[in-house]
Amino acid sequence: MIGHWILYTLPFCGASRAPPDIGETLVESIEHTTYEVTDRVATITLARPDKANAQSETMLDEVDHHFRTAEQDDEVGVIVLRAEGKHFSAGHDLELGPDNPVLYEEDGSWQLHKLYNWEAKKYFGYSWYWRNIPKPTIGAVQGKAIAGALNLIWPLDLLVVADDVQFSDPVTLMAIGGVEYHGHTWEVGARRAKDMLFTQRPIRADEALSIGLAREVVPRDELWDRTHELAAEMATLNPFGLAQAKRAVNQTLDVQGYYAALQSVFDIHHTGHANAITVSGFPVIMQLGGMKDKLKDKEKGS
Ligand code: ZN
Repeated sequence: MIGHWILYTLPFCGASRAPPDIGETLVESIEHTTYEVTDRVATITLARPDKANAQSETMLDEVDHHFRTAEQDDEVGVIVLRAEGKHFSAGHDLELGPDNPVLYEEDGSWQLHKLYNWEAKKYFGYSWYWRNIPKPTIGAVQGKAIAGALNLIWPLDLLVVADDVQFSDPVTLMAIGGVEYHGHTWEVGARRAKDMLFTQRPIRADEALSIGLAREVVPRDELWDRTHELAAEMATLNPFGLAQAKRAVNQTLDVQGYYAALQSVFDIHHTGHANAITVSGFPVIMQLGGMKDKLKDKEKGS
């Protein structure tokens, strides 16, 4: 267990302090997600299947709004995050437009501090907040869960996956050392994390089950019903007991340095962006289209 190693070698770095609440972003309308409460289960659904649930800022603000609504609702015992369509999420939506902020300068140049501050809130900050909500959270994951998708998945407590699931983080193809919320090493172990990052190899359903990443694997058409059934069963338990059970496990990770590690890897992530800006003038070295082409080539070859 990586955690034990950190506990014994870095005893004074382990007592990480939770960051201050980043605060809720005002959401004026809900467009890319849905939210419902049934059987004491709040269900947040990514609803942009035509874009493979790519995450724009708008979508992330909505997801955060739903998580906070569920957190504050005494009628909600368990929170489910799921996604419409073939794939859970293709990662971050980097397209310019109304759903994303302009982070570069008028002349097209980039200043790292603007990107850093924005990602610290919208990527790392949101994920960390969701991880600490004192109610169990369950992910229902199908199809591809690529790169930024992991920022949504790693913070969740349990995962039910479809038999076609693929977890991957190919951003090394863009000369970045992994996405902003580095749960990888904690969730799949050090060598597998390196394998994911070095080779872009996805973790599929059987492997996810065998390493304890997934709680169970079900056929795609049973994913939502089975996840809801599990959540509803858990939601009958005493909420304080559930909150304390979650806190017991999370606190154990935290004293082993979980938060300190996540925070420092977020900064490592930004050395990737900084390097790319100095080399190419853009925060990633290969543009997104180039990464997609390269992944398609790899799939054809495998
Ligand atoms: Zn980034």
